[in-house]
Amino acid sequence: MSTLAAPAVAELHEEVRELAHRSEAVILAHNYQVPEVQDVADFVGDSLGLAREGAATDAPVIAFCGVHFMAETAAILSPGKTVLIPDLDAGCSLADSITADQLRTWKAEHPGAVVVSYVNTTAEVKAESDYCCTSGNATEVVRSIPEGTEILFLPDLYLGLWVERVTGRKLTIWMGECHVHAGIRPADIERWQEDSPDAELLVHPECGCASQCMAFGNERTHILSTEGMIRFAQSSPKERFLVATETGILHRLSKEAPGKTFEAVSERAICRYMKMITLEKLRDSLRDMKHEVTVPAEIAGRARQALERMVATG
Ligand code: SF4
Repeated sequence: MSTLAAPAVAELHEEVRELAHRSEAVILAHNYQVPEVQDVADFVGDSLGLAREGAATDAPVIAFCGVHFMAETAAILSPGKTVLIPDLDAGCSLADSITADQLRTWKAEHPGAVVVSYVNTTAEVKAESDYCCTSGNATEVVRSIPEGTEILFLPDLYLGLWVERVTGRKLTIWMGECHVHAGIRPADIERWQEDSPDAELLVHPECGCASQCMAFGNERTHILSTEGMIRFAQSSPKERFLVATETGILHRLSKEAPGKTFEAVSERAICRYMKMITLEKLRDSLRDMKHEVTVPAEIAGRARQALERMVATG
């Protein structure tokens, strides 16, 4: 819910659009951004969609409304473009759960293994990886690796467990987690299952409950990336959906599947990093061309191959 009154939002939207036009910037926003930031963006999507859009755009400036590793990804895939983030402190607890040094040590303990990194990692960690993936294409990326190859999967424990179950492949999984998704517990799901027999349940695979949800074998429960949730809600004949991921997605779901009802399984599932991006900060960023996100050429060069594989898969 916006803390700004509607006229203030409209005024800021106009200012932001004018500044974006003047600087030939494209505004990209993640599904977890606050509604008023989503509403002013040229493109709203998940990590994979935003990475693809950033790579494809002709705009010389990308204003990235998301968290830092996403802006880094855009900078790596779009050399020569200026990538701005409205708040440099918009980090990610999941990306912080493994460093490049820790990954180098882990690789040394598993010689010959292939490294698959979820996109929620720093550029340095991507540079040490063979493949990147998002929740939207993690299963396809793992399936594309020859059977019999050891796979080090990082950094999200729950996504790794889910990929193992779906693909039937054994993964060696890093024990990282996103505090927002890990906080959605099986008890939250069980309560909704009992109280809302008419609702479909949409669960992000990063959630602490996702692997247990699969075990329920319940046909009302669907483990999906955020883009997958939107496609599912649009095409489903059902009217009511319970959503287990960061609550920012509810705004986009309501816009893209009008007339249907979406409710958060946990109102606590709010990412404070995503919510650091505000319309005022976006306006300041475009006006002052700050804060530019850059990745050293040597790291970007090594990270690019893993990212290009991600963008090309699924
Ligand atoms: S919701 Fe979790 S994984 Fe996503 S940006 Fe926030 S902390 Fe990182």
